[in-house]
Amino acid sequence: MAGVKLTCPDCDQGNRVPADKLNAGPRCGTCGAPLMWDKPKEVTFDWLQKAAARDEVPLVVDFWAAWCGPCRMMAPEFAKAAGTAKGQARFVKLDTEAFPQAGARYGIRGIPLLMAFRGGREVARQAGAVPAPAILDWLKGAEAL
Ligand SMILES: [Zn+2]
Repeated sequence: MAGVKLTCPDCDQGNRVPADKLNAGPRCGTCGAPLMWDKPKEVTFDWLQKAAARDEVPLVVDFWAAWCGPCRMMAPEFAKAAGTAKGQARFVKLDTEAFPQAGARYGIRGIPLLMAFRGGREVARQAGAVPAPAILDWLKGAEAL
């Protein structure tokens, strides 16, 4: 059992965690940071590129910006979905104002935009603000949960 690959949020180290231990509070073998979380975590463009390219645990990204009203409206729904999907997927947020290069890299035409990655590729995207149950249904439909 090699386990599933996960990128540490703090030191970018690739870790392997047995699939049945994802809910047991796994920590980075290098720096000790928690590898799973139940609230959306703000990440950088560089981190997202690494994690999206190699993580085997589903990675769900909310591309947002502070000036975007629908993004702010959806934030609590995204957080709720993150809590429900705890131990199954990692939810992160990327501020498109702080990291404008994400726009071209991921072909973003508008925000809010949700994207799910798994096993090094994009498996689904969802444009526009949606409530937590719709986020979870969308992920199940994409077999990302
Ligand atoms: Zn680490």
